[in-house]
Amino acid sequence: MTYKKILVAVDTTDEAEDVIKAAREIADEKNSEISIITVIRPMTDFYVNLYSTLEDSAKIGFESQAVENVTEWLSGLAKRYGIDQGAMTVIIGTPAVEIRRLAEELGVGLIVLGTHGRHGLGLMLGSTANAVLHGAPCDVLAIKVHTESQD
Ligand code: AMP
Repeated sequence: MTYKKILVAVDTTDEAEDVIKAAREIADEKNSEISIITVIRPMTDFYVNLYSTLEDSAKIGFESQAVENVTEWLSGLAKRYGIDQGAMTVIIGTPAVEIRRLAEELGVGLIVLGTHGRHGLGLMLGSTANAVLHGAPCDVLAIKVHTESQD
């Protein structure tokens, strides 16, 4: 397969390095352009009650601070793997929705993300990898990331 464009999706965990490394290798092999995305879940997903008590300006403040921090973190990672700052997206939303949306917008041929290869209950609860796969506009490659509990 040849992929002119690849989108790599990373969360802010240690797994990001494994996923981006794999995407970089594929891009080098296939001579593809890489874009990268990290999606920040909205605060309402975690703190519904607290969120409802905040003024609008405080809500915007929290979220823009989160975007700023994650952008700084992602810039460091992208730089190490030769990914252009202009090819980075940090956005607030639902990870799978935003990943699929950007893949479509950029017209990528491949999305690269991580998976823990969960089974049993973990799989039934769903994962970002599963959610991206269902309805993805292109190929999806799930890199099996290793966590301490698996080794
Ligand atoms: P999870 O299903 O949360 O274990 O995540 C599986 C993979 O989906 C991660 O290794 C990332 O590649 C990707 N992913 C998960 N959450 C996000 C996020 N918030 N932004 C971008 N990619 C994500």
